[in-house]
Amino acid sequence: MVKVIPLGGVGEIGKNCTLVEDGNEILIIDCGLSFPNEEMPGVDIVVPDFTYLVQNSRKVLGVIITHAHEDHIGGLPYLLQKLNVPIYATAFTHAMMKHKLEEKVGNKSLQLKTFKPGEGIKVGSFEVETIRVTHSIPDSCAIAVMTSAGALLFTGDFKLDFTPVDGNLTDLAKLTQIGKEGVLCLFSDSTNVDRPGWGPSERTVLPGIRSAFEHAQGRILMTTFASNVHRMQQFIEVAAEQGRKVGVVGRRMEQSMDICENLGYIRLPKGVRVSLDEVKQMPDHQAAILTTGSQGEPMSALVQMSRGSYGRMQIKEGDTLIYSARTIPGNEGAIWRTINRLFKQGCEVIYDAPTPVHVSGHGYQQELMMMVNLVKPHFIAPVHGEPRHQHLYSKLVRRMGYQDNRIFTMEDGRPLVFDGKKAYLDEPVPHGRVLIDNSGLPGVTDEVLRDRYNAANEGMVIVTVVIDVDEGEVIGDPVVQGKGLHANSSLLDTVQSMVTDGLYSLSKEELCDLNRVQLEVVDIAKRTLQKRGQIRPLVIPSIVSV
Ligand SMILES: [Zn+2]
Ligand SMILES: [Zn+2]
Repeated sequence: MVKVIPLGGVGEIGKNCTLVEDGNEILIIDCGLSFPNEEMPGVDIVVPDFTYLVQNSRKVLGVIITHAHEDHIGGLPYLLQKLNVPIYATAFTHAMMKHKLEEKVGNKSLQLKTFKPGEGIKVGSFEVETIRVTHSIPDSCAIAVMTSAGALLFTGDFKLDFTPVDGNLTDLAKLTQIGKEGVLCLFSDSTNVDRPGWGPSERTVLPGIRSAFEHAQGRILMTTFASNVHRMQQFIEVAAEQGRKVGVVGRRMEQSMDICENLGYIRLPKGVRVSLDEVKQMPDHQAAILTTGSQGEPMSALVQMSRGSYGRMQIKEGDTLIYSARTIPGNEGAIWRTINRLFKQGCEVIYDAPTPVHVSGHGYQQELMMMVNLVKPHFIAPVHGEPRHQHLYSKLVRRMGYQDNRIFTMEDGRPLVFDGKKAYLDEPVPHGRVLIDNSGLPGVTDEVLRDRYNAANEGMVIVTVVIDVDEGEVIGDPVVQGKGLHANSSLLDTVQSMVTDGLYSLSKEELCDLNRVQLEVVDIAKRTLQKRGQIRPLVIPSIVSV
């Protein structure tokens, strides 16, 4: 019996983490994070709940990483804090993960194993094949795991790009070969299943970037993900061709450029990259700048420049910014505010040009169907998608002749079991989301979230009561204060008199029990605020004993 258990990444886009469990062995594929939604105030990142892995720690052989995007690697530091297991990845992926892992886990205990895209590796009893695919980051791989039930093929994130910027094509021959040998189940990317046709090649943004350069009067800036090496490469190519020098701002972008230069993942014509100080000295029409901040992150270089508060560089009238990235849902507001501030400073922002300055790294319908056609799996399960993507993907492969009993709509935590000729979805194992805020400590609870949400939306009310515990008496009147409250001024007086009445109805013994008093105070205050003021602020009791 073989189980495939997603701890994250199905029915959602983000925190990809899938287990392949065969007898006494578990292999983990990817370990990502997702970003908080608007109902998670103060939360930085979300990672999967690793309880099941901790419970089965003796079975875990290691983690194999498909590519270095945060939704595939960002959970690793938190997994490694619980389980020290080997990590298998390409040299590029390791280099991109290194800083964070060392920062959070320390480098002594890290067990890093490197493979080249296309290499076969052996992990425990598993024979694993890695297959190069094209995506918006170098060295992305699909992973085939040979289990006792048959071959399982995980596409990872992919598109079928025939003119990739680095010249590394998807290894269609190998996919076909694995397909010929027989694939029990295909776990396919479904992110762009709602887009008909075949997605545009990464190369198609080159004319868009070039056109921006040709029309610019002053300096040119471009923001993209610091991991989008292909995009950075094209910016550099156009800059070189137009006689401009390139400076880089933002810590992540600088790190990423250094890694790519060292490992040879970026081709830099001689003398094109210069320091930020040098690029600032250049005449405007010779300057080009790559910057972080494509998601409107408050501390990023671009956002600080848009506010005029970045020490190292300022926006100038006549600058042009190419906004070359996708908007991660939830970041729209921050991104538009940044773009608006840039326009106000006299910077022309190109974000939606007739010739595109951004294309997706995920395959469209025809590419997804091509993958199915090459691999010809017996069973099929869409992953890396929300329920709408899973639904549309199922519809797509039904058109290719797949019957419902061969298509699985997976859910986080529920094992897909392969038992002889059958496959079925089983009862869930422990799973969920773990929220991490600025403190860096995992496990922001639902109660904390609710309190933050209430305090942020409706303010807070603090009720202070002084009790003489020897006598069992209330001393003086309760004090009721509001913070961030918008209500009729008499509301707090009403709360105060209701709390006073409530306390006087308690016996001496009850008043000596401070927990009892606290519950009573919160209950009365909440009910009064809701009934009389129609508001639900956070109520904070402060019970002082003398
Ligand atoms: Zn990706
Ligand atoms: Zn992804």
